[in-house]
Amino acid sequence: MVSTYKAVKKAQKGKLRGAIRSIVLDTLFIKDVFVRNDYLLDIPRVQFLYIHHVFKDEADNFDKLLSFLSKKHTFISHSEAVERLLNGNVDRPYISWSSDDGIHSNMIAAKILEKYGASCCFFLNPYSIGLKDDEKLRFFCNKKLELPKVSFLDWDDVYKLQKDGHEIGAHTYEHDRVSDMTAVEFEEDFFKTDKELTAKCGKIKHFAFTYGKYSDFNKKAYDIVFSNGYESCSSASRGCHISNGNQIKKNELFIRRDQIIAGWPLNQMKYFIKASAKKLSLDTNFIPNSYK
Ligand SMILES: [Zn+2]
Repeated sequence: MVSTYKAVKKAQKGKLRGAIRSIVLDTLFIKDVFVRNDYLLDIPRVQFLYIHHVFKDEADNFDKLLSFLSKKHTFISHSEAVERLLNGNVDRPYISWSSDDGIHSNMIAAKILEKYGASCCFFLNPYSIGLKDDEKLRFFCNKKLELPKVSFLDWDDVYKLQKDGHEIGAHTYEHDRVSDMTAVEFEEDFFKTDKELTAKCGKIKHFAFTYGKYSDFNKKAYDIVFSNGYESCSSASRGCHISNGNQIKKNELFIRRDQIIAGWPLNQMKYFIKASAKKLSLDTNFIPNSYK
């Protein structure tokens, strides 16, 4: 069972995509170090940052990021962030945290977030909660998450997170790609997920679709999420949000989130956060044309 970021990186080493990506990133964030652009963080906005894990060897770095961000931002819950956007009430820089996939090291993340008064919305797959079977774990991690075998939260962990002020959201039942499902299949998956999470955690209001690109999801699934009483739907498309009076209607807000890997160098994390703040416009609030 892998429990460090170093081991995750080692297991993923040799995958070409990862190698090219890290070369591109190195070039970008090294350039950014020499530009004085921290003023971008003063822009009133809601920026949703999301993680997958904070393994023990990422904890110090994550703490440093929180310390840096806390100087210029107010941390708010996912629910408050959605509410502020819909009410057009974004008067200063806000950050809202979420986490996908329910990996056990989220307990480390939660502790650090709590230290800075931040809460997190954990988007979970009921299938993996408390999953212990070796073969199932290996298959799920490799095929669905592209990770070596890691451990997951169990229900007691989930209850503790809720007790400590965090929110729980839905992320499909078994981390399948929504664009591979028919509308009927997605509806079944959605209700199965909602039923199990609701039975354990109470009403669920937020959904994040798997894999995160707009092409991994579709308009029909988006409509199913909102027509069943959910208040938000999150992608993993980079960007952040501003308000403009009350112009964002509930089902027109498709949340963009910036992925943060706590094991990245601090400057790399800052680069992504500032790059989204720089690109901020009213257009980043709305759903893409293919969803209209
Ligand atoms: Zn996921």
